[in-house]
Amino acid sequence: MYRTHNCEKLRINNIGEDVILSGWVQKIRNLGGMTFIDLRDRYGITQLVFDMNTNSDLCLKARKLGREYVIKINGKVVERSNKNMDMPTGEIEINISDIDILSKSSVPPFTIENNTDGGEELRMKYRYLDLRRQTVKNSIILRHKMAQEVRSYLNLNDFLEIETPVLIKSTPEGARDFVVPSRMNAGKFYALPQSPQLFKQLLMIGGFDKYYQIVKCFRDEDFRSDRQPEFTQIDCEMSFVEQDDVINMFEGLTKHLFDKILNIKFKEKFPHISYQDAVNLYGSDRPDIRFDMKINNITEIAKGNNFKVFDDSEYIGGICAKGLGNYSRKQLDKLTKWVRRPQIGAKGLVYVKCNNGNFKSSVNKFYSQTDLEKWAKKFDANSGDLLLILSGKKTEILFALGELRLEIANRLNLRNNNKYSPLWVVDFPLFEKDETGNLRAMHHPFTSPKTEDKQLLDTEPEKVKANAYDLVINGVEIGGGSIRIHNNEMQEKIFDLLGFSKEEAKAQFGFLMNAFKYGAPPHGGVAFGFDRWTALFNNSESIRDIIAFPKNNTGKDIMIDAPADIDKKQLNDLHLRTTVKF
Ligand code: ASP
Repeated sequence: MYRTHNCEKLRINNIGEDVILSGWVQKIRNLGGMTFIDLRDRYGITQLVFDMNTNSDLCLKARKLGREYVIKINGKVVERSNKNMDMPTGEIEINISDIDILSKSSVPPFTIENNTDGGEELRMKYRYLDLRRQTVKNSIILRHKMAQEVRSYLNLNDFLEIETPVLIKSTPEGARDFVVPSRMNAGKFYALPQSPQLFKQLLMIGGFDKYYQIVKCFRDEDFRSDRQPEFTQIDCEMSFVEQDDVINMFEGLTKHLFDKILNIKFKEKFPHISYQDAVNLYGSDRPDIRFDMKINNITEIAKGNNFKVFDDSEYIGGICAKGLGNYSRKQLDKLTKWVRRPQIGAKGLVYVKCNNGNFKSSVNKFYSQTDLEKWAKKFDANSGDLLLILSGKKTEILFALGELRLEIANRLNLRNNNKYSPLWVVDFPLFEKDETGNLRAMHHPFTSPKTEDKQLLDTEPEKVKANAYDLVINGVEIGGGSIRIHNNEMQEKIFDLLGFSKEEAKAQFGFLMNAFKYGAPPHGGVAFGFDRWTALFNNSESIRDIIAFPKNNTGKDIMIDAPADIDKKQLNDLHLRTTVKF
């Protein structure tokens, strides 16, 4: 028998009991004639005590143990004289009568403590050791709880969990596919799903009505920011629904998770904001509304004063940085440099310091105090505030202002990690234009246009709005979905607008169009980024923290050394030749 209890279980009322525990040696301390060991398992830590005076053999044996040895002990629960009320088992310790070494351990390459001395690469290489650290372990446990709560809510609401295949044909979600060569079909490839989009639609046609799956998706993207080549979605689809039905169902899921995981109860409905308002007011289609600081458009009132930069601009707008009116010249110069960085892309920055009805600005030459007062009114500025204004091409400047807004919010500590502000972004355009001016699906090609906009498809397709929606929490896009097209006439029209010839559409999506011939119910759904959602609830900087075995930021698993070479024979079997020399 390895254990009667786990390392978190024993309390003061267990005193006098004979127990057996197994776990890892976290720490050994020798104090005078005594030796103390912290024994750790998944559940917690229990202190073991050895006394040189009463059992020197055993004490000497304990002193020879190393960190991360796996041991089994027999002993008696005793009251500690030196209690540690910070740990659940801190009132007791185990007086040991026997130790069994179950596994020795080499000295671990970093300390297995919350504040470890190991760098990220090292911890990734020894991820199984990193997973023993309490913070990492807790993140993985949180992920498990989230998954269980998702299942419990959806099961209660009659959803069926149905698996879809992993070896498929490409699904167009906008990224590159990972492909798998087929040995039995020379020269042919499967693609790994970027999402189960078409399968979930086919499940609706198959009559399943409400589907979900917590599912791996694969996208071969450049590893900008916090992405993983394989990630997990909570993927859902429903039949006989309109946009509000889907939103209500998944607002319910969101509230359920907030309640069960974070003990936060949202009573009110989440706000809805149109895509256009999100971009105009927050410079982003995933606005962080934990704080206000909206963007103000002053194009109309700021033009016509012979300030060429403004006069030549399509758009002039800015934000009000509350209380930053005391920014020094140096700080403003630095901020100007910041907005000029290529990632932000503004050409320059105009500021106005508001001080008891006096306005000091970088454009005082062109604008009178009355002009500047007008701006300040528009910005709702008070004495002590700082207006930060950018100008140029509308879309670019709104984006730059969105970034500046977040930067200023960071400086003002307005992005409080313990506050959550969910919202739905709705009324997305159906299309956007790509670099060459061609139409591209903003969500994906299976998204339906709003009924009232259908007549614009032939004339002004870029004005058509979609039945599409995103759930955004604290500036993070947690999920998105749409009501789908469910008839061939509309689907063909959209393919046509997206530049697919009839033959191309048939070759790629013939199976879907065929299925639409046999009675497709109106349907729609949504998918949530499970990793991002868990990371948000876990207050993690990176989704790597909440994935048991993540890849690094170049897409490699450095623990198992993947991706890796394969041998010639394997290549031959797969009918492949590589251009890379072995
Ligand atoms: N398949 C979509 C995505 O991965 C989500 C959806 O439309 O349900 O973004």
